[in-house]
Amino acid sequence: MRNSVFNLIISGALFSIYAFSPKSNTEKKQISIYQYSTLSALLEGIYDGEMTIGGLKKQGDFGIGTFNALDGELIMFKGRCYKATSDSKIITMNDTVKTPFAAICNFRSDTVIRINHRVKIKTLESYLDSIISKPNLIFAYQITGKFDTIVIRSVPKQEKPYKRLIEAYKKQGVFTLTDQEGVLLGYKFPKYLKDVNMDDYHFHFLSNDKTKGGHLLNCSILSAEVSVAYIRNYNLQLPDNSYFNHTTFSNKKSELKQVEGAEK
Ligand SMILES: [Zn+2]
Repeated sequence: MRNSVFNLIISGALFSIYAFSPKSNTEKKQISIYQYSTLSALLEGIYDGEMTIGGLKKQGDFGIGTFNALDGELIMFKGRCYKATSDSKIITMNDTVKTPFAAICNFRSDTVIRINHRVKIKTLESYLDSIISKPNLIFAYQITGKFDTIVIRSVPKQEKPYKRLIEAYKKQGVFTLTDQEGVLLGYKFPKYLKDVNMDDYHFHFLSNDKTKGGHLLNCSILSAEVSVAYIRNYNLQLPDNSYFNHTTFSNKKSELKQVEGAEK
């Protein structure tokens, strides 16, 4: 594998880029994302699925999602599944627990970027967009490092009848953590897939000591290694329940921006 190393100054921040030269498609085993259900279904309030954590683990060891009844943020890291609770604590989940929405893969990086200066996540995202100009691919990210501040959220368990996601998130808990070491795991999907998953950066945070975590709203990075995977295989599993089968999806994009969005 050939590596090229160079430095760039963007917005006053120094990034070192280790751009691995990926092998050709015929040489390289492709990473595939396995996704259960769709973002549109989640927006409509379809918060119960049949997929188990054990089932997800058969598809990969890395990923994000949520749990049935929207009971916290799902983090799959190194083959273990964690829940970030609505008070930002971390619980290890067993294989029988179910999810209504998750995207899982076996992460392997195509490009690694080292950050040695303080940088806001939004600046890093703009930088990644500028150097990886492949807007029609799916990307997975693993950002391991030290964080000056990190703002995360998680939602409390919902009661039936479920409200739309925009309503559920009005009761989210938002927490600002300082001086954290941990990992951000996430994806960015292309715009043409915006109804099935987020067409923007979507990260979940897990602290190295496995005590804190949640859905990322904002952060300031002190130093980090940013690993990026380019993904061309996408396996979408649709639920088999009456809510999913009979719901009319309204696909309100404005709701999505409010739900995922963020203080960034
Ligand atoms: Zn999330």
